[in-house]
Amino acid sequence: MILIMFGAPGVGKGSQARFLSEALQIPHISTGDLFRENVANRTELGKLVKIHMDNGSLVPDEMTIGLIMDRIRQADCKQGFILDGFPRTISQVEHLEKSLKAEMRAIDTVVNITLDDAKIIDRVTGRRICPSCNSVYHLAYHKPYSVGRCNNCTTDLVQRVDDTESTVLRRLQVYYAQTEPVLSYLRDRYAVVDVVSEDDINDTTRKIYSSLDLAVHGASNKDARYMRLPSGCA
Ligand code: AMP
Repeated sequence: MILIMFGAPGVGKGSQARFLSEALQIPHISTGDLFRENVANRTELGKLVKIHMDNGSLVPDEMTIGLIMDRIRQADCKQGFILDGFPRTISQVEHLEKSLKAEMRAIDTVVNITLDDAKIIDRVTGRRICPSCNSVYHLAYHKPYSVGRCNNCTTDLVQRVDDTESTVLRRLQVYYAQTEPVLSYLRDRYAVVDVVSEDDINDTTRKIYSSLDLAVHGASNKDARYMRLPSGCA
């Protein structure tokens, strides 16, 4: 299954992609995470992309497309994969389609997650991430068990440089100007599932699972054996 998680920054694409990746046993590929790894490891690519990321603009297509095309050709993507944060421009979606077509594959479904801008700003500015395992928390809505520490690996949580209010506003502008047109392009060609992001992350997960027609409990379709709701999400 080839899934695209679509939506503005802060709607919860990454968290939902992680749940689905675990449930479907296919890789979760986030361009933002790949870029952040490069920045943290001070690679040549990391040095080039940092300025774009820090000011909330898009990394140029020529640095983004190759990275993703190389990643989806790897062996672990043979059974499918979940893209999070890609494609964000028309050129990116066209390259993706071309590359998949060459392997007789295609995008199966797009999950479009929506949320009011005011809520997005609240969520993003309160977000804290684990720089080691990429787990995501929120100061008010999804607190770690121990203050400032990741539940999975106890690493100190950090705020992303681009999660400040001024940068989020810029990222939203960039989303509406450059990325939202990609959604219309996808709607014309593929199945798009629209899901409003809920305050309780598990409610959003349930909605996505049922919209995708994947089994939550006892359903009998062919994907049922792969689906497991995240812990705490009954
Ligand atoms: P994200 O973690 O998806 O919010 O991405 C963080 C930042 O990485 C974005 O604000 C962009 O600067 C950059 N980025 C991530 N994905 C892409 C993409 N598909 N195209 C261009 N820039 C991207």
